[in-house]
Amino acid sequence: MGDELYVVIQTENMPERKIKMNLKQGDKKVLADVQTAIFVTEEGSDTANILFTATVGQFAKKNKDTITNASNFTDYAIAKITLKSTNEEDNKKYAKALKAAKDKKAKLYIAMDAEPADNDWASVQYEEIFDNRPNLWYYGSGEWFEVNESRLYKKGDKGDVVREINIRLAGFGGNVPSENFTKRTEKTVIQFQEDYMKIDPTGVVSEKELKAIDEFSDKYPISFDQMKCDCGKCTGFGKGKFSSEKQKKTILEKNRKYEYPGIHRSIIYGLKGVLFYLDNTEKSLNYSFNKISSGYRCHIDNEQNDRASTNHMGKALDIHFNKDGKRTRKVSDIEDIRSKIFKKYLGAKFDWKAGQKNIFNLESTKVGAQRLGYG
Ligand SMILES: [Zn+2]
Repeated sequence: MGDELYVVIQTENMPERKIKMNLKQGDKKVLADVQTAIFVTEEGSDTANILFTATVGQFAKKNKDTITNASNFTDYAIAKITLKSTNEEDNKKYAKALKAAKDKKAKLYIAMDAEPADNDWASVQYEEIFDNRPNLWYYGSGEWFEVNESRLYKKGDKGDVVREINIRLAGFGGNVPSENFTKRTEKTVIQFQEDYMKIDPTGVVSEKELKAIDEFSDKYPISFDQMKCDCGKCTGFGKGKFSSEKQKKTILEKNRKYEYPGIHRSIIYGLKGVLFYLDNTEKSLNYSFNKISSGYRCHIDNEQNDRASTNHMGKALDIHFNKDGKRTRKVSDIEDIRSKIFKKYLGAKFDWKAGQKNIFNLESTKVGAQRLGYG
């Protein structure tokens, strides 16, 4: 519910004919009584109705300049509708009914007729597929259109999906992996909508944002092998040592010795965001990702290399970058990436100073001149 969708009807020898439709409840009462129409909102209309219309060929005519194969749609009637009423009471009723439905679904069908109709077509029932009245079609054969609960997330919501949004959009302004949809979440959603989706931002996550987030996640793969520990003795991501220090409130995170069982996904998704910005918005800078030079470093690896820091136990990565396709070691280039990408788009600050928690931090030039460390 709540989604925008196109209803596409293919016709033959019916140019300019107007097709009237409505979306009706199938064989079980959920949104409405069986065989009763539900309210939808048609594109360009301020009021919801049970009836919506499309004219054969109009879509092709209207879109001939923007869609290269518009002429292929000459024999189609296409209606763009939103599965919601303009009356919030109706929407509440639908949402409640879907939530209460056993499988959280409503099965619907479309009844339609072409003008001029010679019947009280709106009273058509789905069994009437065997009826031979002219100008009447509907989706039958025991198959239904399924409508699910609306997946819409906004400020104030909470739960596992929100946590996933917080993690996956960390590269769009930085965020913590909590289950709460906060003002900060809203800001990352807006940045994602503007920069990645290139749409007018709403700060709300609906089905299309969820799809775009999945697409973004798949588009910028990061090799797990590059993140693994080099010690040769652990699993690649430590052995879970010092588990008693995990989340222990009396020890600052930066001093905790716990070997997290992987690299935090917010860090990985932060890097995916960086890859996106380098490849798109800031392509003209001519930087690209080279590799993760240092991923996980467990306690054994620390001993082997005589170091003590615990950042690389799942909380940080060191990265090399290319300039014009070749690895750069120039301090000015790395500085450039720090300020024009990490600071600007991930909201990163420098060197894990006091108070700089719950955001991405970067090693400054004096700590890591030729590579970029962040966590
Ligand atoms: Zn190791």
